[in-house]
Amino acid sequence: MSQRRKFIKQSLLGSALLLPGLSALNSQASPLKKSSGTKPLILSTWVHGLPANADAWAKLKQTGSILDAVEAGVRNTELDMENLSVGLQGLPDREGITTLDASIMCGDGSCGTVAFVRQVKHPISLARAVMEKTPHVMLVGEGARQFAIAQGFPMEEEKLSPNAQKEYDKWKVTSKYKPIINIENHDTIGMIGLDAAGKLAGSCTTSGLSYKMHGRVGDSPIIGAGLFVDDEVGAATATGLGESIIRICGSFLIVELMRQGRSPQEACEEAVRRLVAKNKNIKDIQAGFLAINKEGEVGAFAVHPGFNYAVATESGNVLVDAGSQFKP
Ligand code: ASP
Repeated sequence: MSQRRKFIKQSLLGSALLLPGLSALNSQASPLKKSSGTKPLILSTWVHGLPANADAWAKLKQTGSILDAVEAGVRNTELDMENLSVGLQGLPDREGITTLDASIMCGDGSCGTVAFVRQVKHPISLARAVMEKTPHVMLVGEGARQFAIAQGFPMEEEKLSPNAQKEYDKWKVTSKYKPIINIENHDTIGMIGLDAAGKLAGSCTTSGLSYKMHGRVGDSPIIGAGLFVDDEVGAATATGLGESIIRICGSFLIVELMRQGRSPQEACEEAVRRLVAKNKNIKDIQAGFLAINKEGEVGAFAVHPGFNYAVATESGNVLVDAGSQFKP
């Protein structure tokens, strides 16, 4: 983990315990135990899940809507200038253009997604507009951008953030593309939430893999791959190499495994086993899953060590390390 990441992790862990409306949770307490089912509950990927969870929690308290909460939570990450994998400040594709993917889903099956979108600061809100204001599920590229303009979304100037420009300039020296398994390269935020009445919703937003081919779309806006939510069962979201996750329909697989009686943890572990079996060069592939069931039990698992996630409950908002199939 880079020094920057370590610092963010430590400082956020410190402040997490002071977040408004959230009191301290013993960070030793494992949220993975079967008996730990709790509602409401908000879960999100990586360390930036801490501030995202805090915003989601505040929104849940304010409007009572778990859908509003998961949208508000990841909007925080879409504005985080330190994050080079989410939002317009994210690393660009090989042509130097930042394109964004996002999805949102409710437990009743409503969903909306956008992919390969440019110039939109909050693709998650655009995905919600697709869900609520069109007869469709997914809009991509120029069509998504035109829909955004029609809906009054401001168009941002197409200019790389200073951090992204610096990284892109370095990358151009070799122009090599190889997905790396470290966490710097996989910072998508996936968030899943359960309200006190048992309603579920989820969101996922990313700038995708850095230096991807122009036009490449990952798992995050693909319903069933990067996100799946069903009020009858539970919800799951994914992060990591999108191609490997799409191949196994990861989030849908986890929800279906839970429907058949697996715990969220067992379902995440089975999805990782499946992903490992269906993808070559697994040593170069990181992917991680998060899941909750409608009782408020939690699961998380990754291919390689290093995947963590933030859990917010009435008692606190903490960062937890997920287990992995491969050991260090
Ligand atoms: N899942 C994302 C993608 O493949 C990448 C990530 O998790 O950062 O687009």
